[in-house]
Amino acid sequence: MILIVAEHTAGKLAKATLEMVTAARESGREGPITLLVLGQNIAAVANEAAAVADQVLVADMPELATYNAEVWAAATTQIAQEGEAHTVIIGGSRSGREYAPRVAVKLDAAYLEDATKLSSNGAALQAQRYTFLARVTETVDADGLVVVTVKPGSFAPAPPAAAAGEQYDVELSLPAARVEVTGKSVEKSSRVALTEADVIVTGGRGVGSPENFSRYVEALADNLGAGVGATRAVVDAGWRPYAEQVGQTGKTVQPKAYIALGVSGAVQHLSGMGKSKNIIAINKDAEAPIFKVADYGIVGDINEIVPALIEASRK
Ligand code: FAD
Repeated sequence: MILIVAEHTAGKLAKATLEMVTAARESGREGPITLLVLGQNIAAVANEAAAVADQVLVADMPELATYNAEVWAAATTQIAQEGEAHTVIIGGSRSGREYAPRVAVKLDAAYLEDATKLSSNGAALQAQRYTFLARVTETVDADGLVVVTVKPGSFAPAPPAAAAGEQYDVELSLPAARVEVTGKSVEKSSRVALTEADVIVTGGRGVGSPENFSRYVEALADNLGAGVGATRAVVDAGWRPYAEQVGQTGKTVQPKAYIALGVSGAVQHLSGMGKSKNIIAINKDAEAPIFKVADYGIVGDINEIVPALIEASRK
């Protein structure tokens, strides 16, 4: 079987889980697509998971109330062994990349990190991933049992399957957690999260200043109900928080519409947003690389064009 460890937050299945299901479907690997849901009070998540998977294994236990790398690794390993999984897919989130290597070691499996594409090459699982500052896309084959993490935003979210998958409750024997989360402060934002947004407005250095970023990028995003993104140049300049960075060293996104204001389109930025369905770019330089990937482009000054867009989007 193909085992996917579901990601979920606040009682809802994360988009990353639907992306992993697409990765599994595209991998060409055989066997039922099985979603493992770990947590406590997760019935609603399990129901959502059943809509896209062949089967859902539900481990609803107090020990799984909070994420812990050792516990998640033990749970995943146990299920992979019992179900004789040949492929284990884990989200490329910070936590996923923390426990996935542990699972690979415990299973004595091959390990692939940050796959942006999956397919089969004979018996091997073939993956693509970025390397050399995202200037190179590498193709790698792994034989036998494979644990793979999937780069968020690299696959389209899976639509529901023809029929809902069966759900099974599983009992696990888990180790005591040696690391305990003792506090959490959640940044409050009324805006949609970048990785969940259908529309993203991103500002680059061409926006000119932090004040202009609010005046143009945030104002347009708020009128459109969009997420706000930033280039690394803007983040490095301290205009915007790292959480908004899109690109190789930031988030990978795949919204329906990506609006880039004053963004040059460096390869490291493109690797994080190049798969967006519609890319709309405004840049005063007609030769800017962003226009090579843009579906719609306006060559012009942001200071003249964006106020008109904000006005139009208000209506
Ligand atoms: P610039 O390249 O300076 O582009 C500004 C653009 O604005 C120009 O095209 C200009 O024509 C236009 N402009 C200026 N004024 C106006 C105006 N008034 N109206 C309209 N257009 C205007 N970058 C990322 O974004 N994300 C990453 O994750 C990332 N990771 C990296 C990792 C590594 C290892 C390295 C080496 C680099 C990385 N970078 C990343 C940096 C990347 O190479 C670029 O430097 C960066 O993306 C440039 O940001 P920018 O487009 O905002 O700025």
